[in-house]
Amino acid sequence: MVASSVLGFPRIGAKRELKKATESYWAGKITSEELFEIGSKIRTENWKLQKDAGVDIIASNDFSFYDQVLDLSLLFNVIPDRYTKYGLSPIDTLFAMGRGLQKPADEAKGIKAIDVTALEMVKWFDSNYHYVRPTFSHSTEFKLNGSKPVDEFLEAKKLGVETRPVLLGPISYLFLGKADKDSLDLDPISLLEKLLPVYIEVLNKLKEAGAKSVQLDEPVLVFDLPQNVQDAYQGAYEKLAKGVAGLDIVLTTYFGDVRPNLKAIANLPVSGFHFDFTRCPEQFDEVVAILKDSQKLSVGIVDGRNVWKNKFGASLKLIQSAVDKVGSDRVIVATSSSLLHTPVDLDNETSLSEEIKGFFSFAKQKLSEVVTLSAKINGSTDAAITKALEENAAYVEARNTSKIINNPEVQKRVAAIDSNMGKRQNAFPARWNKQKAIFKFPLFPTTTIGSFPQTKEIRINRNKFQRGKISAEEYEKFINEEIERVIRFQEEIDLDVLVHGEPERNDMTAYFGEQINGYAFTTNGWVQSYGSRYVRPPVIVGDLSRPKPMSVKESVYAQSITTKHVKGMLTGPITMLRWSFPRDDLDQKTQAYQLSLVLRDEVNDLEAAGIKIIQVDEPALREGLPLRAGAERNAYYDWAAESFRISTSGVADETQIHSHFCYSDLDPNHIKALDADVVSIEYSKKDDPSYISEFKDYPNHVGLGLFDIHSPRIPSKEEFIEKMGKILETYDAAKFWVNPDCGLKTRGWEETKLSLSHMVEAAKYFRGKY
Ligand code: GLN
Ligand code: ZN
Repeated sequence: MVASSVLGFPRIGAKRELKKATESYWAGKITSEELFEIGSKIRTENWKLQKDAGVDIIASNDFSFYDQVLDLSLLFNVIPDRYTKYGLSPIDTLFAMGRGLQKPADEAKGIKAIDVTALEMVKWFDSNYHYVRPTFSHSTEFKLNGSKPVDEFLEAKKLGVETRPVLLGPISYLFLGKADKDSLDLDPISLLEKLLPVYIEVLNKLKEAGAKSVQLDEPVLVFDLPQNVQDAYQGAYEKLAKGVAGLDIVLTTYFGDVRPNLKAIANLPVSGFHFDFTRCPEQFDEVVAILKDSQKLSVGIVDGRNVWKNKFGASLKLIQSAVDKVGSDRVIVATSSSLLHTPVDLDNETSLSEEIKGFFSFAKQKLSEVVTLSAKINGSTDAAITKALEENAAYVEARNTSKIINNPEVQKRVAAIDSNMGKRQNAFPARWNKQKAIFKFPLFPTTTIGSFPQTKEIRINRNKFQRGKISAEEYEKFINEEIERVIRFQEEIDLDVLVHGEPERNDMTAYFGEQINGYAFTTNGWVQSYGSRYVRPPVIVGDLSRPKPMSVKESVYAQSITTKHVKGMLTGPITMLRWSFPRDDLDQKTQAYQLSLVLRDEVNDLEAAGIKIIQVDEPALREGLPLRAGAERNAYYDWAAESFRISTSGVADETQIHSHFCYSDLDPNHIKALDADVVSIEYSKKDDPSYISEFKDYPNHVGLGLFDIHSPRIPSKEEFIEKMGKILETYDAAKFWVNPDCGLKTRGWEETKLSLSHMVEAAKYFRGKY
């Protein structure tokens, strides 16, 4: 009999309970006990849901109050000194590491002031989830600090649910981390010997608690791993297997192709392997060939990264070939990855058309998919299973023939794209000559990345408008007042290039998606992006086109009330694609080109309406990069840059194009290929001098983000001066812009006012010196 398995379930709660709870806790409105209680409730519901659906292998320790990688850092005591000196509780230490902490002193109570920045946050592989990067130094001493995996295993057991605890494996944990700035010569992998005993200790505790097997995630196996990292696998897993004899270890990989690293894992003493066959079915023969007699094969076949219904016919064929090769007792039918990256429950969607709803499957629905597929392979004749199979066949047919998918006009326009469309009239030096005469910027021009605080009032009014409680005119009036407030504030603190603040946007992708034909959007389809920040990705269901301008009204209004320049603000084609759930029936390049034409029309309309600076954000550029070097990655470099240039090259030389990037290690060459006049890049948490020099030779203008907008802490003017000073040691002052890391939408007004004022003062300080 094959078994069914789910590698992890979303932990945000069907109604975003986790967000409400953590944010209330941060605001001091609930106690840590109340917070833990809500966590426990979410876990209980998730386990019950999976058990009731009939899933055989259910994960525990997939829950987290912030991030599962950060949990491990806390568990293994990988806590940089700056977080330990305040005597914070474990949960407060976790949050301080995740989001920074700043608290004034309370002299009456003898409490010292707290001021600590967050650890670096980076993209989780090619997803829009962000993990908190472990930071190691020569002095890192691992020791077990807490018992989260065991506690949660026992919690489930008490509820009658036998779970398989999941932990990120030791090699992935180290490889995904980085050396702290006091230990830059440290290769994290060199810490493996020190780390393994702590893994063995926690795994033994799980065994003592009754766990029969554990899931160790080693997703870094889909990267091009350096030889020393590949070589580390055999020894590490031999030690683990010996150290925890009797506990089954299933080594889990996902998001890609493990073949280039197959030698590293071919002889591991584990009880089974999990591979992602949704992303890379081509690896099937080769990866199955490494299995030893008793090892299990977990077949990742229900996609953990998208919202489309599984196509059972094709999946059953693949599972059957697994059964034919290794026998049904050794096959597990599984989700491709954790379901963390999918929305929770399609049943909560009330505004999708029946047709589109019929195409989708969210986390809860994917449970049934896994169960149905395994039941069918096991020869079930259950009526419900037969019905599910019939309905699925009807879905495949309905999608193939759906009218909402094809738009011949769009297809024609994409086919007619030629190389001139991706070229500005002149190269940057000539453009800059014309632009500087118009803009007359001072040295170190100051600007922001776009959004200003999304206040409660904004959310309330948007909500009222969506529910028809206020008219379109009333809403527009409200938005214009917000824009005016943002403009006046920016004038007051003397920023050079203004923005309208994006109050009309709930989300930078969804806002545009809702205005583009070919998109569907959900009302409850939230997915965790980082910490308590969730996104609701729109879904690309068909060919994409723009019925009318999407952002011109707000930009024109903002420009009309100030004499300073206001940047138009758009989301670029790659980010639109990456932060949407893409189609699985059309290649990504074609979807990007469709979006680039939509954006090109918008950019041209903004220019025609008198907007002279237009920013096209591409924070997801890096995230789209195929995880391995090679033909696919090279092709991406080309089509991603081309999509951006198609969007932005329809304008005159005098129009200044900005772009913005955040959250990841960026590749200067890729950014160069976009040929934007000015780019702003997240920088504040890099702490790595080599990162400065990487962008030193960027030929156009560049602003390195000077403060962390994910954290509520307010940097002082002196801190800005120090940061800028360091950058200016190597940078060409004439090309250097001054800006925060990213948009300010998640911040409060008080923090924003102070931080930006300090930033502007620092820019003025340097103007006085140059
Ligand atoms: N313009 C957007 C904002 O400021 C950019 C956000 C982003 O890069 N994630 O909110
Ligand atoms: Zn950003």
